[in-house]
Amino acid sequence: FRDRKLICQIIPFENRRQILVTHDATETQRIEEMRRDFIANASHELRTPLTVIVGFLEIASSEMNLDAETRMSHLKLMTEQGHRMQRLIEDMLTLSRLESMDYPLRSEPVDIAALMEQIVQEARALSGGKHQITSSVNGPGISGNPEELRSAFGNLASNAVRYTPPGGTVHLAWQMGPNGPQFVATDTGIGIDQIHIARLTERFYRVDKSRSRETQGTGLGLAIVKHVLLRHGGNLTIKSEAGKGSSFIVSLPAA
Ligand code: ADP
Repeated sequence: FRDRKLICQIIPFENRRQILVTHDATETQRIEEMRRDFIANASHELRTPLTVIVGFLEIASSEMNLDAETRMSHLKLMTEQGHRMQRLIEDMLTLSRLESMDYPLRSEPVDIAALMEQIVQEARALSGGKHQITSSVNGPGISGNPEELRSAFGNLASNAVRYTPPGGTVHLAWQMGPNGPQFVATDTGIGIDQIHIARLTERFYRVDKSRSRETQGTGLGLAIVKHVLLRHGGNLTIKSEAGKGSSFIVSLPAA
């Protein structure tokens, strides 16, 4: 019982005897801690851009003689921070929708060719021509929720681009794996040290906070991927080597 949180209660029983009632509260406490951490992290993430916006608004209202160029640069920074808050809120809402019990999976046959085409187009738009982005589609069909799968695959594809320096390669594949179809995002990017891999799908866990923010990350992408896969009976395998690149492999049950 060393690592368990037990709540014990002694209840008097007949003939001066007593009953010891123990309740294992480990899981409840763990969930409570996760909830507290999430609220603390989310508040911190939202406070940072808000502080920037409020700061510039205060300058704008107290200094009437700002030249047009400074004013424009303040407006640009405020808009960027506003977008950052929007992305965070969108991702938090997506996560909470995925987790809610009264939102069952709506499954239907997925048009994989169209889905892959969309993911590749989005990755190319994000890269802005700075990476070589290739793709292949050879796997069988599946059933699932196309919107959720688009969000999961899109997060992995966008990570592959965001964590690969210009000039690198990103390959997005739909293929048959050993136990069923797979979506694989492979990059020749910065890679991930082994010690981080097990924690990557935790909410707000980032290897390098500043790089994540610079590239418009929210720290929630892989948590969203994990939840989508839980709902689809799939799983995520991460293979990576720092400085060399990564492969994120999504395995899904066949249709
Ligand atoms: P973020 O918005 O920060 O990218 P994610 O949840 O998508 O959040 O990813 C969590 C962290 O995992 C990232 O901050 C980054 O450190 C690491 N990561 C994810 N994908 C890759 C990748 N393809 N290459 C290197 N690191 C990655």
